Amino acid sequence: MSLSVKNIETFYGNSQALFGLSLDIATGSVTTLLGRNGMGKTTTVNSIIGNIRCRSGEIFFNNDKISGLPAYLVAQKGIGLVPEGRQIFPNLNVRENLIATAANYSQGKTNWTLDTVLDLFPALRERLNNMGNQLSGGEQQMLAIGRALMLNPELLILDEATEGLAPLIRKDIWQKLYDVKQTGISILLIDKNLEELSRIADYHYIIEKGTVAWQGDSDALLAAPDLKSRYLGV
Ligand code: ATP
Repeated sequence: MSLSVKNIETFYGNSQALFGLSLDIATGSVTTLLGRNGMGKTTTVNSIIGNIRCRSGEIFFNNDKISGLPAYLVAQKGIGLVPEGRQIFPNLNVRENLIATAANYSQGKTNWTLDTVLDLFPALRERLNNMGNQLSGGEQQMLAIGRALMLNPELLILDEATEGLAPLIRKDIWQKLYDVKQTGISILLIDKNLEELSRIADYHYIIEKGTVAWQGDSDALLAAPDLKSRYLGV
């Protein structure tokens, strides 16, 4: 797996949101996008997955150019998204949510099935016949991650996956993502919980005004407290 974003510029109408943003995700790594609200994290994700077309620059996945492709083709190449706000199907039950869109886009490199997803999230096994809208926030998040895994992506992108969750549940989700990483899937995380993230993540990009303001590994991030006040407002 390799993802390389090269110098992309993305606009909403005439309003420019990304200004020559570049980043790379190493195989098997957990990489984060950090930054205050409105700095361009979600726009970066939307540009990668083909929800928004970038006006210039290029994006390569496994050496194929994916910028310009529609979102469904990007998904088929092996990039899975757990979207902001989870967006599970409220009127389908847990089992149906998991199998409704399942496929294996990894050409056999990974093989997540209903059973292995339920092994990862035993809480969902107990709720198999419950409707999506009957689940707690944490269970909905597990379901959203499980649904994305059922597409067997090589790269899993999570946009604010732990927003609004209690600290213990958040911790549980990080641990599960760490387990997922061990299966060889690369992960891109957008989140604000810096300290906890630095424990499971390998590399970080801080986005400021639509471009990369800083990049480095977890040790470098934790060793530089001024970064947090300067770019993250914490
Ligand atoms: P957040 O954490 O609040 O989602 P973010 O870092 O993900 O923040 P983006 O949502 O990517 O930031 O927003 C980047 C810029 O693009 C902001 O100036 C925002 O106002 C603008 N923007 C985002 N979505 C749209 C849209 N649909 N139409 C117009 N402008 C938008």
